[in-house]
Amino acid sequence: MLTNNKEILPDSLKLEFLRKLFFGLAMDTALNALTPEQMMEAHRFFWEKSLEFGIRSKGKDFKKEEITSRFTPISHFQKKMNCKNALQKCKGTDCFYTNPECAILRTRQQIEAIREAIFDMLEIKRVET
Ligand SMILES: [Zn+2]
Repeated sequence: MLTNNKEILPDSLKLEFLRKLFFGLAMDTALNALTPEQMMEAHRFFWEKSLEFGIRSKGKDFKKEEITSRFTPISHFQKKMNCKNALQKCKGTDCFYTNPECAILRTRQQIEAIREAIFDMLEIKRVET
């Protein structure tokens, strides 16, 4: 099993994510360098930030669906990547261990979707897409 250790994603990288986020810059270069394990942590980081920003900007009116509705269904990636894992396993973390390309593809899409949602919530202007 992978350890759930804060050191997986160094603070310097988190700050880089936030800097790029607030300046509306593309994440590609920052995300391309990540290991599957770091990608999982990056997803968690963006997800937590989006909930925080959502609640701060909309209060009780904030719904997680504003973010999750932008996610492409996992089945799309499962098919596209010819993933042999059952859908439930593909949706979970199994693919990070057995088929990292599959897990990384959908995780990146979700991070991009979360980023778009944050742009809308905080009215950040996209400089690069
Ligand atoms: Zn998969």
